[in-house]
Amino acid sequence: MYQDTRNWIDENWVDTLTLRQWWILMNDARLSFPRWPAAWFGRDASTAEQNDIARAFADAGVLGPPTGLGVLMGAPVTMTFGTEEQKQRWLPSLATGVEGWCQLFSEPGAGSDLASVSCRAERDGDEWVINGQKVWTSGALHSTRGMLVARNDFDQPKHKGLTYFIIDLEQPGVEIRPIKQMNGAAHFNEVFFNDARVSDSDRISDVNNGWAITTATLGFERSGLSEGAGGGVRVPAGKQAGFLDRNVGELLEYVRATRSHPDEYGGLLSSLQTINVSGGVNETQRQKMVSLYTNEHIAEMTRKRITASVKKGQSPGAEASTMKLHWTNGLRISRDLGMELMGAEGMLTGSDLQVEGKVQHFFLSMPSASIAGGSDEVQRNIIGEKTLGLPKDSQADPATPFKDIPKN
Ligand SMILES: Cc1cc2nc3c(=O)[nH]c(=O)nc-3n(C[C@H](O)[C@H](O)[C@H](O)COP(=O)(O)OP(=O)(O)OC[C@H]3O[C@@H](n4cnc5c(N)ncnc54)[C@H](O)[C@@H]3O)c2cc1C
Repeated sequence: MYQDTRNWIDENWVDTLTLRQWWILMNDARLSFPRWPAAWFGRDASTAEQNDIARAFADAGVLGPPTGLGVLMGAPVTMTFGTEEQKQRWLPSLATGVEGWCQLFSEPGAGSDLASVSCRAERDGDEWVINGQKVWTSGALHSTRGMLVARNDFDQPKHKGLTYFIIDLEQPGVEIRPIKQMNGAAHFNEVFFNDARVSDSDRISDVNNGWAITTATLGFERSGLSEGAGGGVRVPAGKQAGFLDRNVGELLEYVRATRSHPDEYGGLLSSLQTINVSGGVNETQRQKMVSLYTNEHIAEMTRKRITASVKKGQSPGAEASTMKLHWTNGLRISRDLGMELMGAEGMLTGSDLQVEGKVQHFFLSMPSASIAGGSDEVQRNIIGEKTLGLPKDSQADPATPFKDIPKN
């Protein structure tokens, strides 16, 4: 598969293609999302085949498949729970990168305790009217649609009165405000809904079944977070990202020069190997390198188990939480190792430093990784409860109507 893919890239990559054309070619050749089902733009690939394809794109140094939460979570959610009509309507634009989606879950009063969302969905004929606020919405400014969990019934217990929609963000009732982070980026946003509208035909699964779809989405997020984006140089999907009609050759140079993709954590490991360490690597640093290697191998075995259960039609379970922990564990070790290897230079920032200042940028980005996709502490709770059978984390009586639960 590796050589076939390299041959395909040699035959098809032309600097003057637009990104839109390149992603259509990749999709037609079933090279963008090999693990997706053959019925929906994939080739039912094994992990080994997927890795071969990813490696071929990485080695060729060309642009890889579309990235973003739409392909990471929106596509598997649609494939698993969407109607045939929804699949026909949404999957082609996700597979070819024409649309980017975001995840509208967290709210100021609902993060780790996500089932406390209070964004309101009220039925109005064939539509729903949405009012409320979401926060930490990654990539909202680059998204056409969002995966929204909203409360339609405040008389039901908190996990029950929720419904899941795919909402159009290009409408007057939606306001998106970027949030500036300490690494200088504005990766996530606040999203305000003020009488925004979503058609009932854009509802995923039944009314009141939103929690099941939400937890499945989080499973796809956690298991996918550490999988990488399928090789090659990463560019976000969607017309709002502004890349679709640029030439791939020029775009490749641009992305390399500016590192203007949203990848805050990736690409550090290979960079560490190029740091110039005066006096060589010491024993503690060597131990950290071995920990990284071990962590990656355990993650790889877990990844294979997840792929096998997804193929059997099961949602990713507790393994997905351990994958998230492997990912943040690996990032934490590489952050510490990177800063140690940089020595005093670690106190500076700027692209004129060794490995273009990536280590320092990564140091400032890393704290968010152990919070994104559910914090490490919450992942440990899930593993404790679901896998080890420990007593449940304390929470309000699960039968209490949401409106009667005291709010902090
Ligand atoms: C980089 C990044 C990207 C994100 N992208 C998105 C996105 O696209 N869409 C979206 O909807 N959300 C997104 N989020 C939000 C993320 O899901 C929440 O930040 C996360 O779930 C934690 O919620 P919180 O920030 O409200 O913290 P809180 O829930 O208030 O938690 C605060 C602290 O308390 C700890 N804690 C809370 N409850 C428990 C418990 N029961 N047991 C032990 N410890 C506990 C937490 O671990 C944490 O350390 C993103 C966050 C980050 C950092």
